[in-house]
Amino acid sequence: MGFAAKLISGEAKPEDCPMLLEPVYKVNLEKLKKLIPSEGREITGLIIEEEKCTGCGICVVVCEENRMNEEVLYGKGGRYNDELVLKIEEGKVRLVDANRCKRAFKPPEFCRACVDHCPTGAIELVTPT
Ligand code: SF4
Ligand code: SF4
Repeated sequence: MGFAAKLISGEAKPEDCPMLLEPVYKVNLEKLKKLIPSEGREITGLIIEEEKCTGCGICVVVCEENRMNEEVLYGKGGRYNDELVLKIEEGKVRLVDANRCKRAFKPPEFCRACVDHCPTGAIELVTPT
């Protein structure tokens, strides 16, 4: 239970469990990594559940940090080299630069626009604010 709680809060990664590194548990490790992607979670508190994401792009356009980019502000998708927080890639949203998220600022801004606007609940917060 303690390890599970640390996984959810981002304090631990699936790879930190020695048993999961044994070849016999390889499939379980891969499943867990998909379920709890660690990229950016530690600094933003955001978890993206890929299975629930339809790639609609609503979170991409409601994110104020993304909207600093005029392409996004006027309804286009970001270009390949654009500096964005969230981006649709291969039909799913990705947190491409966690450090650009308001929640990663110092001090953090407790934004949750992407969470609140996602129609499928694919983005969740592991921190209460
Ligand atoms: S996370 Fe939600 S709002 Fe963002 S693209 Fe996926 S389904 Fe749409
Ligand atoms: S929490 Fe706010 S700043 Fe961070 S990705 Fe979501 S909408 Fe953008």
